Amino acid sequence: MPADRSSYASRRARTAERCRDRGFAGLVVGPGSDLTYLTGYRIPPSERLTALVLGPDGDAALVVPALEAARAEASAPDLALRMWQETDDPCALVATAIRDRGPIGLSDQLWAAFVLRLQAAFPDRAFRPASDITRELRIRKDRAELDALRAVSAAADRAYRRVLERPFARRSERDIAAALAELLRAEGHDEVLFTIVAAGPDGASPHHQTGDRRLSEGDAVVLDFGGTRDHYTSDITRTVHVGAAVGDDLRRVHGVVRRAQDAAYVAARAGATCASVDAAARAVIGEAGFGERFIHRTGHGIGLDGHEHPYLVAGNDERLEPGMAFSIEPGIYLPGRFGVRIEDIAVIAEDGRAEPLNHADRDLAIVA
Ligand code: ZN
Ligand code: ZN
Ligand code: ZN
Repeated sequence: MPADRSSYASRRARTAERCRDRGFAGLVVGPGSDLTYLTGYRIPPSERLTALVLGPDGDAALVVPALEAARAEASAPDLALRMWQETDDPCALVATAIRDRGPIGLSDQLWAAFVLRLQAAFPDRAFRPASDITRELRIRKDRAELDALRAVSAAADRAYRRVLERPFARRSERDIAAALAELLRAEGHDEVLFTIVAAGPDGASPHHQTGDRRLSEGDAVVLDFGGTRDHYTSDITRTVHVGAAVGDDLRRVHGVVRRAQDAAYVAARAGATCASVDAAARAVIGEAGFGERFIHRTGHGIGLDGHEHPYLVAGNDERLEPGMAFSIEPGIYLPGRFGVRIEDIAVIAEDGRAEPLNHADRDLAIVA
């Protein structure tokens, strides 16, 4: 369920409060997840500027091109709109809405074209990333957000179970990817973001570009896919095998990745550092002799963005807290042979433990 209007208002109030505490003159938030978080409005960025201008006093206005005003109003009926016509300068309109002194926060994904014009409009001002402020709010999910993450993760689980029902042998990676996309939609996603299908040696490349390789008996296949429902993102990876004759190496490697994920689950508790969760997974894989073949971080935060804070990576001493949602996705990649990755989304629950949001079976599934 999307958040109700009062929760957007309260997110804006808490953001404004932080702007006051830090002496910000306000935030200019263009299209992207900060805008969705603060208003419920989601649109792709374009050369026509849309931006929420939020002042430290809590005043909020949405600067919108006239032709999109109706759409903005439908998504964010509680916001004051400042419309601009095709020949107006929207950056000038933004400038008039910022009345206080102090640095101006710009959303991380605001196009450079607008940043440069705003800098020209405020030649003596400092500019900061708006994420200095929004990050600490977005990193702990509220109840509506957790419900949305739960629902989208369950939909991804169902898509995974259904894709296993049809044989994989002789189909192409692309064909299976298309089937996954269809299943994600059928199971309740509004949008499909990615469907990685990496068979045999292709699986050794974690972000393989799904292609025309035809699957055959004996292939290990990495399936990594996700999309959005009510703006919140799913992301799940399972590794399956075509045919019942699973090689000893694959079985062993899959078992190691499984244990690495279990170790990360145990380590991921309120108060633990992100780095310690990564280290727990890495220790299992290292002890099994595959340390060099685990070539990415253990996980990333997830919410309105598919990848966001916190990142479970060496060197990140940020501590986990209830409400943080992130992937746990160890993998082992053997060039020229195969790859194995298992990925769930987990959230730190109120009792401090990591609760999986994905429940699809993590065993090495056998497909025909
Ligand atoms: Zn990835
Ligand atoms: Zn993934
Ligand atoms: Zn992921």
